[in-house]
Amino acid sequence: MTQLIRELYPICRSITGEGVRQTLRLLAREIPLHVREIPSGTRVLDWDVPREWNIRDAWIKTVRGDRVVDFRAHTLHVMSYSVPVRGRVSLQQLRRHLHSLPDHPDWIPYRTSYYEEDWAFCVTHRQYEAMTEPEYDVCIDSDLHDGSMTYAECFLPGRSDTEVLVSAHVCHPSLANDNLSGIAVAAQLARYVAMKHRRYSYRFIFAPGTIGAIAWLAQHESWVGRIGHGIVLAGVGDPGPITYKASRRGNTEIDRAMAHVLRHRGGEHKIEAFSPYGHDERQYCSPGFDLAVGCLMRSPWGSYPEYHTSADSPDFVTRESLEDSLETCIAAIEVLEGNAAYVNQRPKGEPQLGRYGLYGRTGGSADVNMAMLWVLNLSDGRHTLLDIAERAQLSFSTVRRAADALQDADLLAEAPGLTTRDVARHGDAEGVR
Ligand code: ZN
Repeated sequence: MTQLIRELYPICRSITGEGVRQTLRLLAREIPLHVREIPSGTRVLDWDVPREWNIRDAWIKTVRGDRVVDFRAHTLHVMSYSVPVRGRVSLQQLRRHLHSLPDHPDWIPYRTSYYEEDWAFCVTHRQYEAMTEPEYDVCIDSDLHDGSMTYAECFLPGRSDTEVLVSAHVCHPSLANDNLSGIAVAAQLARYVAMKHRRYSYRFIFAPGTIGAIAWLAQHESWVGRIGHGIVLAGVGDPGPITYKASRRGNTEIDRAMAHVLRHRGGEHKIEAFSPYGHDERQYCSPGFDLAVGCLMRSPWGSYPEYHTSADSPDFVTRESLEDSLETCIAAIEVLEGNAAYVNQRPKGEPQLGRYGLYGRTGGSADVNMAMLWVLNLSDGRHTLLDIAERAQLSFSTVRRAADALQDADLLAEAPGLTTRDVARHGDAEGVR
């Protein structure tokens, strides 16, 4: 994941353009991707796909020809979607088109102007202060044309048509945590899911923020009923503890699975209620869709000084945080995959577990023995294994193991309404490890 982040980091991405295509081409080496193009001007819900923006070079030079700001040194130096400009400007004029961060004089800010025609340079405050000559030559060699917006999907079919959606935005230029960490964890998660026997189908979406998610929803309006569960991954590599932002409904299975996993893995974490701001969960959870999609982050957007600045570099992202975020997603997916309701086949009195070779057997684990009693007692077809795990205050994997043992002994049967092919047995996939 850290290697992928370093490889993608120098590319100048935006909501459209070659940077996104190049990013998706590199990603396609890791996972199977279907890349889609939506023409500029296409109406998507209440929005229009914007013109395509590309940039080749940009600089500020002294009149003697010395580059004092150079796009080739950092993609953040140009405000995203800057219109082309070339000419000599006074310092006073130039300053109206400069952004800097006086509180962090060595950092370059990240600015965009997608829907308003403008141009600007983003510079360190030291660069800003060093520009004292009366005139400068500026050039932004960019263009805006009727092209298309690019996004990609990785679809992994499972036994059920019900889908788990994983979404990451791909529109930020050289920013590591906000953008690339989500891409890297989503890609790694797709590789993991691809190796598993799957109950659910999985759809990974790599799309520009906001407009990409809106376009996907617009094009799949009749399809979204299949989305059973979902996670937006954004800012999952910084050193802060995990934050899970619940879906709009707040008590969906993904919300409960995430909360359960975070509680049982120990360590610091935060669970936030839904709010209509943040990442693309805003679109998936808009009231007309109201999908069961939460958002996994570490430090929430805007809560750390490095956010949307050049200090959000690959050095800001830690390997431990990326792995921890990935493992949390995998654990939550294992809950979704393994969650089901059962019916105790000997509900009158406790079954004599010794008769089935189950008493004190399962590796001598007291937790699993206790979990068997809970599963037998609450498996009346109305409680899922996740309900039971929460009530018993046991980890889902322990309860799932107990249910497997009871099912093998024919003490447990799937609750009516769930077909065999729809119930994933935990850990029975071949070639998983
Ligand atoms: Zn951002």
